[in-house]
Parts: sequence; structure tokens; C-alpha cells
Amino acid sequence: MRRKLVAGNWKMHGTLAENTALLASVVAGAQGLNCDLAVCVPFPYLAQAQLALSGTPVHLGAQNLSEHAKGAYTGEVSASMLKDFACAFVIIGHSERRSLYGETDAMVAAKFVAAQAAGLTPILCVGESLQERESGVTEAVVARQLDAVIAVAGIAAFARAVVAYEPVWAIGTGLTATPAQAQAVHAFIRARLAQHDAIVAAGVVIQYGGSMKPSNAAELLSQPDIDGGLIGGAALVADDFLAICRAA
Ligand code: PEP
Repeated sequence: MRRKLVAGNWKMHGTLAENTALLASVVAGAQGLNCDLAVCVPFPYLAQAQLALSGTPVHLGAQNLSEHAKGAYTGEVSASMLKDFACAFVIIGHSERRSLYGETDAMVAAKFVAAQAAGLTPILCVGESLQERESGVTEAVVARQLDAVIAVAGIAAFARAVVAYEPVWAIGTGLTATPAQAQAVHAFIRARLAQHDAIVAAGVVIQYGGSMKPSNAAELLSQPDIDGGLIGGAALVADDFLAICRAA
């Protein structure tokens, strides 16, 4: 039985003062929830979040990492550094990283491997652009993104990973995939993984991400293959984030 996972992606938002309030509210509201919870914060705030979340049910995550273990990579952050701050999760291959920072499928696969090598659980983001959806290549794009990781990491690695289906056209736009649209792609992702290993596929948590909010969360999360949410904007408002967690 898969347990739902709701993870906040704070992106490049927050200040020490704002985070103190948001983390305290999330921790207070997290007690007794029947799902897993995480917040993925900007690197400079990992220590602050680690302290605030220690001993609570809320897991800590980061939003990116280097594919390299260490060395002369100015500005980069390694998986073992994230582990030092008790991160459990790291988002890999977010569409903003792919489109704005040129991350290729090969880089995403290397980051996925680096994360797991350090004991982090990667949240692997996949999803199509609006143009790709309108051209009817959604499944081909998602398959290509998944296959690139399977080829490098192997299917067994997905027993220690999370997949997030994030249609790019729904991220930060207020547009949400309909529950049926999202479910169809989630089922496709699970079937694609099942071609390699049915047991791994049945167990993998597949989150939906893209303008999920309290008003649409329950319906999305009631779909059979939607196992949680990766939440951007709504994760910055404690009441909204917690409402989504309760829906899960
Ligand atoms: C995201 O950035 O992963 C995301 C889903 O953002 P939003 O919820 O704001 O669409």
C-alpha cells in the first residue's frame, strides 16, 4: 500500500524570518496527519529548517544537487552536503532546471544516481510542455525522461525514489491538469516502469505537481495512481499547504 507524500517546493522564496513562521505553522499542523510530508527549501536555509524540523514528522528536502561527489565545481552542492543537514529528499530535474539551466536527461540521470549514492530519495520530475501536449507527444516525452534514468540507474533504483508528474504548462500558471488528464499520465508512468519490474512499479510513489491547491487537491489525490503532490506556490502559505496535506 503506497503512502501519500506531499512535498513543498519553496523554490527561491523565503527569508529567515518568514521561514521561522512557516516552518512553525507546518510543524504545528503536521501532527496526526496520515501522509508523509516534506519541505524542500533553498540551500542557505537547510540548517534553519533542519533545526526546526528535527524530531517532527516533517521531512527536509533540497531542490537540486550536483551530479559530482566533490571537487572543483564552484557554486555546486553535493549529495553528501545535503545529507549533513539531514535531508531525506532532493528534487531532481524540475522543469525550471531543465528549461532555465539546460539540464539534460543525462544530467538528470547522473544527479538521480548521485542522490541515491548518498542515501537521499530523489523526487524525479517529468512532464511535457504545452506545445508537446498539443502535439500529442506527452507520453513520448515522459517515457524519454523516465527511460534516461532507468538506463543509468536501473529499474531497482525506483524502489528508493519518487516520481513527480509535473505538466510544465500547469506549473505556477494556475492551470491544473484535470484529474482525468493527470491520472492518465500517472497510469502511463506506472505502466512504463512495470515493463521493467511490476513490483517496483506498483510500489513507487507518483506525485502530481502543477498548481495544486486546496480547492483541487482532494479530487486529484483521489485518483488511483496519484500518490501525493509536489506543491509550489501553495507550499508558501501554511494553511494552504496543510489543507492539501489533509486532503491527502
Ligand atoms: C512546482 O514548482 O513544482 C510546482 C508544482 O509549482 P506550482 O504548485 O506553483 O504550480
